[in-house]
Amino acid sequence: MEFTRHIDTSGLAENAGTDLMVFWNLNHFCDYRCEYCFCGKEKLSAEHPDVGKHSAERIFEAFTRTGKTWQIHMSGGEPFLYPGFVELCQKLTEKHCISINTNFSTSNVFNFADTVKREKVFFINAGLHIAEREKNKSALDEFIRRVLYFQDKGFNIDVGYLTYPPLLERMAKDIGHLRDKGVKLLNAKVFRGFYAGRRYPGAYTDTEREIIKKYTLDVREIDIIDKKMNFFGSLCGTGMKYFRMDPAGNLFRCSSSFKSYGNLFDGTYSPDTVYAPCPVLNCDCPYEGLRYAKNEKGSYGSVCREALAELAAIPRRGITIKKILRHIRKRLTLNSENSEL
Ligand code: SF4
Ligand code: SF4
Repeated sequence: MEFTRHIDTSGLAENAGTDLMVFWNLNHFCDYRCEYCFCGKEKLSAEHPDVGKHSAERIFEAFTRTGKTWQIHMSGGEPFLYPGFVELCQKLTEKHCISINTNFSTSNVFNFADTVKREKVFFINAGLHIAEREKNKSALDEFIRRVLYFQDKGFNIDVGYLTYPPLLERMAKDIGHLRDKGVKLLNAKVFRGFYAGRRYPGAYTDTEREIIKKYTLDVREIDIIDKKMNFFGSLCGTGMKYFRMDPAGNLFRCSSSFKSYGNLFDGTYSPDTVYAPCPVLNCDCPYEGLRYAKNEKGSYGSVCREALAELAAIPRRGITIKKILRHIRKRLTLNSENSEL
């Protein structure tokens, strides 16, 4: 069997080509407590107050009135715990395409597989989160059963294995086990964050790098482990073709930029019309930069304008010195980033 991670578009609807993409963190709540999670326990325990505020119809209308077709990538928290999540996906896929990051822990995934148009689902990334899975005796077998169910129905589903340093020594065995059970797509995802006071991926040894490269099926992971993700000054299509959205519908340029693009749900969405230079020194979610940053620098004036706009946007996000210090302290202990497109 050949193991590759590619989006098989052959089964997607003819009109599945999308104009725009949004990465929607639609909720905060999650039933898992992975020690590498970037959300933090407080956030994972209390749902965001805006979750469930808008009906599926209203959310669908908000995307549709932009006049564009969207790829709506949903992540959390755990998206399948969003109230009426399957119904929301059924509605959104009447026109738009979706993709999902999930821990696949809930039984409503079967209803999703049976009722959501497979040809409007770009991909599903199911995180293995082995330590959480092993807290319950049958959870791993159930996870595999669910992945195979989706696989058999023709969904593009891949299992993500985060290369968190304490997991590296068991990664080959875990991946081998899932492959033996028939799971086709398993992808080692590079851990980005701090562990034992060391910053990763920079702290991986050469041997560890080689192991990770052997088990990653996505070329972007190789770039992430080998290169510095700094696109400062490069023209980037985020803000024009791609947005990050919070549970309340507020749109931002990307994971790293605080620049606001209005609110999708209240109809104040207002995108850029041209590529703009990257205004930050570190691309926090390199999947975004690797996809949207061009190998071309903006003019000196446009770089200064974007950098100043970025600084001006910080207070609008409610960022205070206290919050920045708390964020740094958290990251210096155990935090990581694990979002993916
Ligand atoms: S990493 Fe994902 S599954 Fe794990 S606690 Fe965070 S949101 Fe939940
Ligand atoms: S390169 Fe990265 S940080 Fe910069 S604007 Fe693009 S996505 Fe954001």
